[in-house]
Amino acid sequence: MNWQLEVLGTQVNASSFFPRVAIIGLGLIGSSIARGTIALGLAGEVVATDGSADVRQRAQELGLAHRITDTNAEAVQDADLVIACVPVGAYGAVAKDIASHLKSGAIVSDVGSVKAAVLKDMAAHLPDTIDFIPAHPVAGTEHSGPDAGFAELFVNRWCILTPSEAASPDGIERLKAFWQALGANVETMTAEHHDLVLAITSHLPHLIAYTIVGTAEELEGVTESEVLKFSAGGFRDFTRIAASDPTMWRDVFLNNKDAVLEMLGEFQEDLSKLTRAIRRGDGDALFEHFSRTRAIRRGILSIGQDAASPDFGRPHQGLPPKGEDDKP
Ligand code: NAP
Repeated sequence: MNWQLEVLGTQVNASSFFPRVAIIGLGLIGSSIARGTIALGLAGEVVATDGSADVRQRAQELGLAHRITDTNAEAVQDADLVIACVPVGAYGAVAKDIASHLKSGAIVSDVGSVKAAVLKDMAAHLPDTIDFIPAHPVAGTEHSGPDAGFAELFVNRWCILTPSEAASPDGIERLKAFWQALGANVETMTAEHHDLVLAITSHLPHLIAYTIVGTAEELEGVTESEVLKFSAGGFRDFTRIAASDPTMWRDVFLNNKDAVLEMLGEFQEDLSKLTRAIRRGDGDALFEHFSRTRAIRRGILSIGQDAASPDFGRPHQGLPPKGEDDKP
């Protein structure tokens, strides 16, 4: 096959096409992959399933796949690419379910936010007749479930592949082409390095958001209604992150313990330095620190990983009508 077309703003080529793709878990990420795969024509057939009967029913109503099966084992039958999209703690169970039903030569992947633990959990069950290539699309929202997904979720976001040494170069290229066709930029690294990088860029920020929102809830001397009313001062930006799925994040911290604890140690040291600067009234130290962090934000904008609109692009209401008495 030698064809190329552009859909959803991305180039789709033959190597990203799979006759049958199976998706296990139809939450935010699984349903987004399913939507994108169908919209872009990346598979002859998309077969999907979910552990929850309600989600399967909803997926049917939304037309998320060509076929919805009741079990994980049925979904992977004859699939050329299998992508598990379940909470980090559930990948081992999924691998066990599907192991004896996989087609020889199939690519098996995942989307877990932690890689070393998921790789270990799945590899323990998967046969060596398949190509196992773990992946993590670094894209998401604070919403969960099949209604939350959308086909464009991965456009201009990164997808990190963490193949084991046993993975075939051809399988890696094909999975890379699939993610690129969904609009993602793809990078490859070891699972251990992924976990360290994501500990600082994703896991620690979530922990801080969960902490600060919890602290505000338990404050004495400031009422809850005041916290909500004056949240535009910065607090509400943390609440978006702290609204993320509790199951997903519980599993992330349980499974990336060492890297998170390492980053938390660094963070606590820096927090102590800032605490000291505030206590001593050291304005120069505070100014120098805040100038450095401002440059990081500018760097993120300059590589197109966020929009430059002020206040994260939130719409601002118009001015109130001018009163009669105020007329000049
Ligand atoms: P989600 O919206 O909660 O969906 C996960 C789905 O998997 C649920 O419908 C769940 O059903 C189902 N499930 C759980 N165990 C299963 C099993 N053994 N077999 C079949 N289905 C099962 O989660 P998500 O946000 O899409 O996250 C999925 C994965 O993507 C996680 O590994 C997460 O680390 C990763 N990820 C998430 C984001 C993000 O921002 N959300 C970003 C990148 C990567 P029940 O509800 O019945 O358990």
